[in-house]
Amino acid sequence: MKTIASRSRVPTQTRKALRARNGNGHVSGSTKIKISSRVAAWLKKPKQNLIGGKWAPAASGKLFDVFNPADASVITRVPDSGKEDINRAVSAARRAFESGPWRRLTPSERGKLVWKVGDLILENADELAELESLDNGKPRAIARVADVPLAADIFHYMAGWATKIEGNTIPISVSYAPGSQFHAFTLREPVGVVGQIIPWNFPLLMAAWKLAPALATGNCVVLKPAEQTPLTALRLGEIFLDAGIPEGVVNIVTGFGETAGAALAAHDDVDKIAFTGSTEVGKIIVRAAAGNLKKVSLELGGKSPNIVFKDVGDLDVAIAGAANAIFFNHGQCCCAGSRLMVERDIFDEVVEGVARYAKKIKLGPGLDPSTEMGPLVSEEQLNRVTNYLRQGKQEGACYVTGGSRAGERGYFVRPTVVKDVKPSMSIVREEIFGPVVVAEPFTKVEELIPRANQTQYGLAAGVWTRDISKAHRVAAALKAGTVWINCYNILDSALPFGGYKQSGWGREMGHAALELYTQTKAVVVGL
Ligand code: ADP
Repeated sequence: MKTIASRSRVPTQTRKALRARNGNGHVSGSTKIKISSRVAAWLKKPKQNLIGGKWAPAASGKLFDVFNPADASVITRVPDSGKEDINRAVSAARRAFESGPWRRLTPSERGKLVWKVGDLILENADELAELESLDNGKPRAIARVADVPLAADIFHYMAGWATKIEGNTIPISVSYAPGSQFHAFTLREPVGVVGQIIPWNFPLLMAAWKLAPALATGNCVVLKPAEQTPLTALRLGEIFLDAGIPEGVVNIVTGFGETAGAALAAHDDVDKIAFTGSTEVGKIIVRAAAGNLKKVSLELGGKSPNIVFKDVGDLDVAIAGAANAIFFNHGQCCCAGSRLMVERDIFDEVVEGVARYAKKIKLGPGLDPSTEMGPLVSEEQLNRVTNYLRQGKQEGACYVTGGSRAGERGYFVRPTVVKDVKPSMSIVREEIFGPVVVAEPFTKVEELIPRANQTQYGLAAGVWTRDISKAHRVAAALKAGTVWINCYNILDSALPFGGYKQSGWGREMGHAALELYTQTKAVVVGL
């Protein structure tokens, strides 16, 4: 076993100082932080792109650093790919799609290969969870019970669809000539070569959400992971080879958004682009895709209202639910319940309850077993979140708890609860993507609904009440792709997920995802 300390570039005094700080809003360190020998050995291997079934360096030979967000040390280096690498990967995917063995597999054979990927993810669950924690900063235990099994699950779920992609027979009404008869039917065919660009908040899971439906439906893929968190995608590339997915069917290219990502989104031989990330970049992707009018699906930002009524029943459950809705994954969830709307009579109690949760959360490196919340993913994200916190203060919001960076090393932010906000404030309107919840009281449902919907986003919402009729009426009135009633953050491979308004185009997961990765061909036979 290797310790992070033995690899870290952080000076010893700083590491000691980091360990010394602890308690409320401070970052804890631990002497128990260890990297397994398996992960340490994997990290030492040179990192390359997966193109046409082979590992290859970037055409330019360039690499970029991958950082550990807990201490800003360099974990490893990965290819800094550009247009030429994307061209090569797209060519490999095109060859695999047009003339490789992939299209000749029966649906059952294809499904079994997709299933096998799920099995291998589970077989390597500890290693993947550790890598994810190191790269993204999230607690290893969370990655082990959430990210990794959910990633395996979507491969298993989608594997079952491979044999159930069917068309229809369609009766023809127009009589073109006396006695003419036709047999008409539809085929559901794969879209072709698919570019997939994913974010850094759930690196493995987002790769799985994208790859599993694309493969189950018979497409070939070029995947670009986020520059902040490319490691589990590269490890997943090895798993695809081990599973026996034919060469060129899955290509994985690391690089920055403005270079590798932009080249993929604009590529004329890519039939579809699937993107998860910010709404701002989503709009860039749409513009880039216009060149060859490739199909586009988008899963974008959110500013989700989480609504607590005074008839919620067990207030403690609602408070714990509201805390989980924002603090899970350090608030780095597109569906985070970042606007807590509470009926006025219980407002103070709920806000204080959520603040109590926030104060107790133990910050630390993801690999420390006692950590409950890790660092934000990057320095850029730390600056973004702390800028919002500063702006909110300047605009007169009241910070019940948190409100600043924690520690001086690593990208930690104290879990934050804000009240006394106005609709015009940037922290109320914009997606912060950090552990920051703004709380607002309301008195009447009629006033609540327009306020809850007063956002450019429409990804998710929560409703807490024991009044079943009210729960359903509010759920129907909310403009959001997912509404959770008396729960939050419940996602499942079988549930469609996606956004209203500027939160996206299309639905991932469930059988809705098949729509994103197939196209319909009508065939008419004159009899
Ligand atoms: P965030 O703002 O949360 O970091 P982004 O939306 O910037 O998220 O990034 C999500 C993904 O989009 C990443 O893989 C990133 O490399 C990619 N990306 C960023 N900018 C572009 C771009 N101009 N074209 C294509 N992909 C991009």
